[in-house]
Amino acid sequence: MGIITVRCAKCGRKIFKYQKMGKGKLWRCWKSRIIEDYSIHDGDEVRCECGNVIGVDKGGYIRLRQSAIIIRS
Ligand SMILES: [Zn+2]
Repeated sequence: MGIITVRCAKCGRKIFKYQKMGKGKLWRCWKSRIIEDYSIHDGDEVRCECGNVIGVDKGGYIRLRQSAIIIRS
């Protein structure tokens, strides 16, 4: 819970700073709770600068690929 950092599992770059609510895995990043955003949007694909696809833009939130990210609290 609290502020977490979502990093790219491939290159380690910071992708989001995010206000996480509740426990458990982070499946979705709600855009309204993203504090810092370093991601690249290409259509509905969300990528790291290195090209690693980290999720899919679903409008109000980003659905994350669990294998593509590392989370640090
Ligand atoms: Zn990366």
